[in-house]
Amino acid sequence: MKFPKEINAYCPYCKSHQLHKVKNSSKGRARTLAIGTRSHERSLFGHGSKRSGKKSVKKQGKRVKVLLHCSKCNKKQDRTIGGRTTKKLEFKQ
Ligand SMILES: [Zn+2]
Repeated sequence: MKFPKEINAYCPYCKSHQLHKVKNSSKGRARTLAIGTRSHERSLFGHGSKRSGKKSVKKQGKRVKVLLHCSKCNKKQDRTIGGRTTKKLEFKQ
């Protein structure tokens, strides 16, 4: 999947279209003490061999997320591009 390095996109902070730098967005490490992680751990606990939250169906491909950097105010925002894709994201020159 090809995507340009710079795009003209709407910035909600500047409230207008600005030139944005595009970067590959990566997921950070999960925090083990976060409230969502703890409640999920609790839901898995105490069911013996059966565990809820395990997927039986594997989805084909992933949704690609990119990070947009505004050139004027330097704020960041996420954008999902395309549908589910199995191909890796590469940036056009
Ligand atoms: Zn901006």
